[in-house]
Amino acid sequence: MRKLLFGLLPLAFFACTSSSEETSETADQTMTQEQKYAEDAHSYSEPNSAVVKHLDLDLYVNFEIKKIKGIATYKIETSEGATQIVFDTWKLDVGMVKDGQGNELEFEMGEYDPTFGSPLIVNLGENTKEVSITYMTNPEAKALQWLSPEQTAGKAMPFLFTQSQAILARSWVPCQDSPGIRFTYTANVQVSKGMLALMSAVNPQEKSEDGKYRFTMEQPIPSYLMAMAVGDIEFAPIGDRTGVYAEPSMLEASAYEFDEMDEMLVAAEELYGAYVWERYDLIVLPPSFPFGGMENPRLTFCTPTIIAGDRSLTALVAHELAHSWSGNLVTNATWDDFWLNEGFTVYFERRIMEAVYGREYSEMLAELGMQDVKGTVDRLGHEHGDTHLKLDLDGRDPDEGLTDIAYEKGYFFLRTIEEAVGREKFDAFLKGYFNENAFEVMDTEGFLTILNEKLLVTEELQNAVNVKAWVYGPGLPESFPDVNSSRFDAVESAAEKWIGGTPADELNTAEWTTHEWLHFLRNLPNELNTEKLAELDNAFGFTNSGNNEILAAWFQHTIRNGYTAADPAVEAFLISVGRRKFLTPTYEALIEADPSKEKARAIYAKARPNYHAVSTGTMDALLDWNSENS
Ligand SMILES: [Zn+2]
Repeated sequence: MRKLLFGLLPLAFFACTSSSEETSETADQTMTQEQKYAEDAHSYSEPNSAVVKHLDLDLYVNFEIKKIKGIATYKIETSEGATQIVFDTWKLDVGMVKDGQGNELEFEMGEYDPTFGSPLIVNLGENTKEVSITYMTNPEAKALQWLSPEQTAGKAMPFLFTQSQAILARSWVPCQDSPGIRFTYTANVQVSKGMLALMSAVNPQEKSEDGKYRFTMEQPIPSYLMAMAVGDIEFAPIGDRTGVYAEPSMLEASAYEFDEMDEMLVAAEELYGAYVWERYDLIVLPPSFPFGGMENPRLTFCTPTIIAGDRSLTALVAHELAHSWSGNLVTNATWDDFWLNEGFTVYFERRIMEAVYGREYSEMLAELGMQDVKGTVDRLGHEHGDTHLKLDLDGRDPDEGLTDIAYEKGYFFLRTIEEAVGREKFDAFLKGYFNENAFEVMDTEGFLTILNEKLLVTEELQNAVNVKAWVYGPGLPESFPDVNSSRFDAVESAAEKWIGGTPADELNTAEWTTHEWLHFLRNLPNELNTEKLAELDNAFGFTNSGNNEILAAWFQHTIRNGYTAADPAVEAFLISVGRRKFLTPTYEALIEADPSKEKARAIYAKARPNYHAVSTGTMDALLDWNSENS
C-alpha cells in the first residue's frame, strides 16, 4: 500500500549509524543498527525510527454499545533524532496521548483507507520513552465479533472474540501492526460480572468475583497474535500443561475431542525442541469464528466445527500447536513471506500426526492437501503470481492474497527438501533453525540463505530440489513429490464399484475415517442423479452427518445436482457455521446452480449477521452484496 511521506522526518535517521557515542546515557535505548526492520507495505509504522517494546493495556469491555474503551501505554525505543512515532489504527476514536510523565503529546490522524485504516502520528518530546493512548473502538471494528446471547451455545450471555491476523489488530488496539515488530504485554481487563476473559497470555482458569482480570505475556509477540475472548466460559484440564476452555454446554464434548493434546505436545517437542510458551490451552469458540483455528500464543482459538465426536478432525490442533514454533517463535517478516509461517506449520502438523497416528494416516492428509493445492492452482491459473510461494501483496488486503498456496505448496516444497536430503538431516536442520532464530523474524531470502549454506550444499541437491521454481515460480514444479496413500486407493476402488453398479450398502466402509469419506465424496462424478444421491444418503446418512467437513463435501453434490432433500440442511449449515473455508465453496456451488444468485442471497440475508467480518468480506464480494441489502 501507499507509504506515507514523512516530510518532517530528519535526514539523520536515514544515516543512523553507530555514531551514537555522544548519547551515552541513552545508548542502550538507541538503535544503532541501520534499517533493522523490513519494509512492510501493510503497516504505516516506521519502526526504524521509533518502535514499541512493551505494552500495558487497560481495557473496559462494553457489550451494550459494542465498544472497548482502552488505554494503551507503550514503552518505546527511538533512533537518534526521531521526532515521531507512528501507530496503525482502524476507526479508533483516539481521545488523548500522553508521555510517561503525564504530559500531553500532540498527535495527528492521517488519511483513512478502508483496508489499512489511518496512521496515528504522535510527536515525541526529546526524551519520550513512554506513550499512552486513550481510545475507543468502533462497533464495526473488524477484529471484534460481538455475539448476542442467541448466537452462543448457552444462549444466556453475550460473547466477544478477536481475530487480529492479518492486519486487524489495529481495529481494537492502536499498534505497530507489522509481523516483524515484537513486544511483550500486560493487560487489565474489566468485563461484566459472571463472565470470563482470556487473552494470548497467562490465563485465569476460573471466573473472578468482580469481572476484573489481569494478564501478562512475557515473551515478545507481534500484534497479529494479540487476542481476547470474553463470555460464559469454563475450563477443563487435559494434561499438566494443557486444557480446554469452552462454553459450559460444550465443555465435556470439547475435552473428549481434544484428549490427545498432551500426546501431540510431546510429539512436537521431540521433533523441534522444547515448547517455550509454558502452557498450551485451547478455546472452542461459537460457530461464527471465521477460521479453523488461530494460533494465539498459549491459547489457540478454534472453531467448534472440528468437534465431530470421534476425534477425527484434530489435525487442526496439531496445526495450531505447530505454530508455537513456526510463526509464533520464528515469524514471517511480512505477509509476502506468509509461507514461512504456514508451509512449515503444515509440514510440522503432518509430522505430528504421523508420530501420533502413523504414516498411513498422515499420507491421507497429504493427499487431501495435494488435491487442495491442485484445485487452487487450477482456479487461480497456472501462471498466476499468487501461486508463487514468495508473494507480492503490495497495495492489497493481505487476507485476499493468502490462499492454500502458502500452506500446501509450502508443505510440498519442504517435503521435497526432506526427500532430497533425508529425514534425519532435515530434522536436525529444522531443530537448529528454530533454536537459532527463536523470537526473531525471518524473510524468504533469509531462510533460503540458511538453507543453501547448511543443507543444500551440493549442486546435485540444489538441482534435485530446484528452490527457484518452488519459491519464485508459478504453479507446481516438476519436482513435486509423490504421495501414496494405500487407504485412499481402497476408497477409490470402492467409488468405482459403486459407479459400476454395486449397491452403496454393500461397499466395505466399516473402518473408514473422516478422511476416507472426504476422499470418497471428492472422487464421485460431478453429475449424479437424484436417485443415486438418495441411495448414498440412505446408506451413509450424509445429510444428517454431525461432521462439518463431510457436510461441506456432500453439499457440493446435492446443490449441483438439485437434490432438494438436502436443501434445508444446506440452509441450516450456512446459517450456523461461519467458517470461511466451508462458506466459500458452498455459496459458489449455489451460484453455479442458480447464476441469478437469488437463492444464495436469500440464505445469505439470514446468515450474514452470524458471520465475522473476515467471512462477510469474502462473501459480500461473491454475492455482490452491499450495505443497502442489509
Ligand atoms: Zn496456520
